[in-house]
Amino acid sequence: MLNRILKYKKINYLLIVLILVFGVAGLFFKQDKQQRQLNNNVSNKVYDSYGDFEGDGVGAVVLCYHRILEPSKVLSIGQELSENSQLHSFNVSSTEFEKQMEYLVKNKIKVITMDELASRLKKKQIDEKYVVITFDDIDVSMLNNAVPILEKFKLPYTSFIISNTTGDYNSGSQMATWEEIKNIKNKDLLTIGMHTDDMHYQENNIPMLMQKNNMSDFKKDYKRNKLKLKDKLEANAVYYAPPYGAIPKDKAAYLIDQGVKGIYTLENGLVTNKSSKDKVPRVVVTEKSWKNLEKYWESGDVLDEDEKE
Ligand SMILES: [Zn+2]
Repeated sequence: MLNRILKYKKINYLLIVLILVFGVAGLFFKQDKQQRQLNNNVSNKVYDSYGDFEGDGVGAVVLCYHRILEPSKVLSIGQELSENSQLHSFNVSSTEFEKQMEYLVKNKIKVITMDELASRLKKKQIDEKYVVITFDDIDVSMLNNAVPILEKFKLPYTSFIISNTTGDYNSGSQMATWEEIKNIKNKDLLTIGMHTDDMHYQENNIPMLMQKNNMSDFKKDYKRNKLKLKDKLEANAVYYAPPYGAIPKDKAAYLIDQGVKGIYTLENGLVTNKSSKDKVPRVVVTEKSWKNLEKYWESGDVLDEDEKE
């Protein structure tokens, strides 16, 4: 009798524990999904307003690209990852990319190197509508589809590299290997930048760089990032792009203290003589933001010679 009661009790406890575990897990899953959808809505709106600088005067636009996909793949990958706002917004097709680069060349918009931008910013000589082209992550699609176009037009560009995930499959993308990066034909056009060694992820929806109490991890990560780029690519990297686009003041101050010459965020804006190197804005390129940029470049902030009279 006593045995039977104990046995039932055990089963009851087990049931209660199971119900609790699944219930709590379900709740988390639901919240996570709602949070992701919320993030999608917010970020898509933000990125759509990117590049809207009409009437803001002269300044450099730092373009930020991620993946440059073959046209047929944009749609399928976009759908597959539609819940991941970052990837969803950040795909540009190679035909679209080629049109954009052609537009810059045809309209004689000066595409300058990262070094030239840093030096102009330092001397407060941003006196024209310049453009700097940047890529985050360096996945294979960028190497295969964007680099040939950049080389064709001889346009300089910067790649911010996550040094611990080269060659890996990471957040839906195949990252380029060190060998593939080394094999880029025209290296004169390429500036290598830092994008953390191994802090390109989030915990509880908060990017690692925005977490508190991990300063010593961050410092070690920076040093590894810098060292690996030196070892593997013989690059002296002095530009930094924080993953997810933001960095707290103390970490930015550390980087500047270490000799970093520019921290490139995802805060929308023009780089002007008033900009600060510890928080340089960029424009995430989407169909909508590119249209905004064309309006800006075509607006009459810079007078033609004959218009000046
Ligand atoms: Zn990234």
